[in-house]
Amino acid sequence: MPNDDRSDAPQTAHDPAAEVVELCRDLIRIDTSNYGDQDGPGERKAAEHVATLLDEVGIESRMIESEPGRTSVIARWGGAGAGGRDDGLLLHGHLDVVPAAAEDWQVDPFSGEVQDGYVWGRGAVDMKDFDAMLLSVVRARQRAGRVPERPIVLCFTADEEAGGHKGAQVIVDEHAEELEGVTEAVGEVGGFSATVRGRRVYLIEAAEKGMAWMKLTARGRAGHGSMINTDNAVTRLSAAVARIGAHQWPVRLTPTMEVLLATVADLAGTEATPENAPALIEEFGGAARMLGAVITNTTNPTMLSAGYKVNVIPTEATAYVDGRFLPGFEDEFFATLAELTGEGVEIEHVSHQQPWETPYEGHLVDAMTRSILAEDEDAVVAPYLMSGGTDAKHFRRLGMRSYGFAPLRLPADLDFTALFHGVDERVPVDALEFGARVFDRFLDDV
Ligand SMILES: [Zn+2]
Repeated sequence: MPNDDRSDAPQTAHDPAAEVVELCRDLIRIDTSNYGDQDGPGERKAAEHVATLLDEVGIESRMIESEPGRTSVIARWGGAGAGGRDDGLLLHGHLDVVPAAAEDWQVDPFSGEVQDGYVWGRGAVDMKDFDAMLLSVVRARQRAGRVPERPIVLCFTADEEAGGHKGAQVIVDEHAEELEGVTEAVGEVGGFSATVRGRRVYLIEAAEKGMAWMKLTARGRAGHGSMINTDNAVTRLSAAVARIGAHQWPVRLTPTMEVLLATVADLAGTEATPENAPALIEEFGGAARMLGAVITNTTNPTMLSAGYKVNVIPTEATAYVDGRFLPGFEDEFFATLAELTGEGVEIEHVSHQQPWETPYEGHLVDAMTRSILAEDEDAVVAPYLMSGGTDAKHFRRLGMRSYGFAPLRLPADLDFTALFHGVDERVPVDALEFGARVFDRFLDDV
């Protein structure tokens, strides 16, 4: 059990963890599958549910609907304190989930079942867990009159799983007044523990990679497949794709990963260098799947298309590449990519997102660290760089310093990163309760 040194440890409606499990189950039961098109159920039902939960404790909220059914909720809370900070803090979570193929699962992905000490269901870790933590903590504090002196904006968004265009992007582009005065943001994906050499290391997200989705096109001379053709689009394109896919990108450590690797090296009794970075990443077990991708730029060819008949050389061949680049290494990424692609293949940018990196220092970092150590005194807390993107990319455009901090104390043998968008997504009940207690302490300190 975690230590709780508060003599008045509340066991009632004022307990920040009292509702977290039921709130998480209820949110999972509202199917908010996001297929990236018009086909899903949308987020309106979940948004209305959240607005009701806030209203029950006297917090007024506003719905922002970018198109019918694609609904986000935003509310102002706290900020009544005199003499404290008056710049705002955004706490944000998304309401949508990726779809789930029920036949692959051991349980109905939208049942919110509790089994073997876990809450099961789509969204259990991404990210109805954190939505539930936020709601449980906010409701308990509001009931107990423990409202933060710092102005807080609570935001539950639509459409994060398809890039946030119908959620966070609309809020930032069309309703920026809702975020006026906000200087810092806390959302997913961070605060969870990974076990290294028997020690729990809590990973706070302090950076995200950038994204470059590209279409490559080679054009050549059409002709009969039986004849000599030195200007074959398929040959040229496939050579470029093979070079891009096989390229060994060099290790590049950003400030965030330097801190993380120094922490791990310390636990392993060694020193961190670019040479041993891959070995240090392996110390993380399952989490190495994601962390291995954030010490280099990456390029994965994902789609190929050319031709219509075996004896016809086509004029054109196309491929798509999913490129991800580290903060500070965008120029190197594109220069290398141009070299690998070579002559006669055109690169078109299909989708582009900037990376970001927040310095791992300051009062918010201190508050996150203190709140984890108060509940898990033997823990190690360190920043990490995330391979994918979240709503933070949109909110960052308003100049906020961002972190991912949805605290979960996880069992050493749980392959947590595999659960994101995975089959049998589930979260330990005690990790949810732990997260709510940590986040409650965090709010004492912000
Ligand atoms: Zn998510």
